[in-house]
Amino acid sequence: MLSRAPKGTSDILPSQIDYWYYAENIIKEVLQSYGYREIRTPAFEHTELFVRGIGETSDIVNKEMFTFQDRKGRSLTLRPEGTAPVVRAYLEHNLSRENPLSKLFYLGNMFRCEKPQAGRYRQFNQFGLEAIGSPSALVDTEIILASWAIYQKLGLTNLSLMINSVGCRECRPEYLEALKDYFHDKKKLLCPDCRERYDKNPLRILDCKNKQCQIEIKNSPSIFDYLCKDCDRHFQQLRKYLDSLQIAYQVNPLLVRGLDYYTKTAFEIISGELGAQNAVGGGGRYDYLVEELGGKHTPAVGFAAGMERMISTMEKQEIKIPFWEGIKVFVATVAQEDISAALKIINHIRENGVSAEMDFLDKSLKAQMRLANKLDVSHTVIVGQEELKEQKVILKNMADGQQEKVAISQILRYLQPKKKG
Ligand code: ATP
Ligand code: MG
Repeated sequence: MLSRAPKGTSDILPSQIDYWYYAENIIKEVLQSYGYREIRTPAFEHTELFVRGIGETSDIVNKEMFTFQDRKGRSLTLRPEGTAPVVRAYLEHNLSRENPLSKLFYLGNMFRCEKPQAGRYRQFNQFGLEAIGSPSALVDTEIILASWAIYQKLGLTNLSLMINSVGCRECRPEYLEALKDYFHDKKKLLCPDCRERYDKNPLRILDCKNKQCQIEIKNSPSIFDYLCKDCDRHFQQLRKYLDSLQIAYQVNPLLVRGLDYYTKTAFEIISGELGAQNAVGGGGRYDYLVEELGGKHTPAVGFAAGMERMISTMEKQEIKIPFWEGIKVFVATVAQEDISAALKIINHIRENGVSAEMDFLDKSLKAQMRLANKLDVSHTVIVGQEELKEQKVILKNMADGQQEKVAISQILRYLQPKKKG
């Protein structure tokens, strides 16, 4: 128990952290170049926010939330996703006052009590972006472009973009009726989950992975025969903009976001590398969410992506990233009495932005030199009484083994940044 992390969680070790730094930096860079600013919301919120914001019939609210009570008996939930918290913060801080279109992004842990498997964890990381305040298909286009640009900049290949429209309050009810009519006689053939979806949320049936359900889904009515003028025009606009940028996409009428707050555009980015859990991220428009959470009618659109799936794709595709260069300088001491002087010297080196390490285990000079070798430093500074008398140290170049006496004030001149292969 004590020596194992809880089920569905994992440690990101120092040997993997460079992938995370690299991905996080690119996400921040790309999104800021599109004018999105980072927002950091708490790791937990009032449970009601997610029940309202994600919807009672969703898998997340039904079975995946980590919910607990605080000491006063209020129900709190570890955030399973980022959109509802961002919209809560947008309303709480009245962000629309600063700007009629709020462009926000986030990075952080999410928590879902799912059955752990490859690409599916109980604590995982997402980045996401939200544009709150415009109904224009131009914003949907920008969200897709910005998300796509991140994967491009990371160097990922073998990705595809799927788009769809899920209609709106005007046209979706009629489509849902058509779906119900179609599945009515086929109910017995559907999986137990879909039988439940039939009553609660028939749109969700379309997204079922069950083989038998998929056979029935194949010939189901298409949303494109039901879209109202406004939704149809919006979808054509989006396609026009994507075409003009020569962004390749597939229209997938089975791609859905199940809830009433989702409207018009739904999209997903799929990786050919990931097997069953192949969606690196998904997004879409949510024109009714802000009012659902107590604000005034405010159209919005966003995207969220799993970082673990993104990083495992980077590893599979052997994306080259800049790794940590390691320690550059070792400061060794001849005897105990040299330690204070060595501390001053190592401080001076580090303050100048050069990484330096010393011994903490009372090792002999010989053992310290072995450690310096193991760390693969470019230089070792040897601090000893004799040289200290003249305000000097011995500087050993580890590449050629040359040693010379150097004035302490001159050390930095010799410590060129070391390049590693
Ligand atoms: P899925 O169909 O894979 O369950 P979802 O619809 O639950 O996805 P979203 O809520 O749209 O996913 O989250 C966006 C992205 O977050 C997913 O595409 C995926 O990359 C990632 N993600 C979702 N759940 C998990 C999880 N449990 N572990 C790791 N990553 C996840
Ligand atoms: Mg899920």
